[in-house]
Amino acid sequence: MKQSSGDFLGVPGYWTLEDLALAGKVVMFECVHCGHTEILDIAALASRHGPQTRVNFFKRNMACSRCGKTGMHGEGD
Ligand SMILES: [Zn+2]
Repeated sequence: MKQSSGDFLGVPGYWTLEDLALAGKVVMFECVHCGHTEILDIAALASRHGPQTRVNFFKRNMACSRCGKTGMHGEGD
């Protein structure tokens, strides 16, 4: 099974929030700093950032709700 290096959160990094919503995909945030995990609220993120926001955007910009730092797991490492 070929693994694209652009995959993130189990989907291709070019997917948008709208794609996730249409696919009914449940995605998990995992903070690289404190290990906090939470289910991402796709609908809330879409209304805040726009449904065409790519999932790769969140790899760099998603802040942890516990420690406030940015950076999250999701590349299968
Ligand atoms: Zn954290």
